[in-house]
Amino acid sequence: MTAVPPTRPPAPIRAEALEALLTERGLVNADAIDGLINRFVNDVGPMNGAKVVAKAWTDEDYKARLMADGTAAVGEFGFAGPQGEHIVVVENSASSHNVVVCTLCSCYPWPLLGLPPDWYKDPAYRSRVVREPRTVLAEMGLELDADVDVTVWDSSAENRYFILPERPAGTEELSEDDLAALVTREAMVGVAKVSSPT
Ligand code: FE
Repeated sequence: MTAVPPTRPPAPIRAEALEALLTERGLVNADAIDGLINRFVNDVGPMNGAKVVAKAWTDEDYKARLMADGTAAVGEFGFAGPQGEHIVVVENSASSHNVVVCTLCSCYPWPLLGLPPDWYKDPAYRSRVVREPRTVLAEMGLELDADVDVTVWDSSAENRYFILPERPAGTEELSEDDLAALVTREAMVGVAKVSSPT
């Protein structure tokens, strides 16, 4: 855990103070900030990433483009914007598992997944998943066999990693929309797998 002095006000209060100061100085526009927040809370979320995953599962050519240039391939859906400039896609399989973290702060592919969940920003997740990924994943409900390779990807301003999860068994007959409905945010960060439909 990062040591935070107990007297330091929590992040929301500091953010509000910062916004007030920047607005007062004319450096930002409060309406523009509200608009951005609304967009990422209401209009953009993991459903975007799920569409990309379902497309990659059903269209080999699209998958090849996605693996070669994530930013351009998600742009085909119109998914772009802040924190979406350098999307790098990593594929999970039965033998190789990848999980994403931002050890420094909370870099995250906003246009694909919306705003990051609290656990992703938690200092404990950020420091521990690098050192002991299997333990952290098991605590989050994902037990990996000992022979599965685990790689942790550290997101940053240079690269925002996005996981292409493994397509579960029993989904051969599903439509792209039905496949997308199976894909969770957690699977696209690599802390879970996509479950077979029951
Ligand atoms: Fe970050």
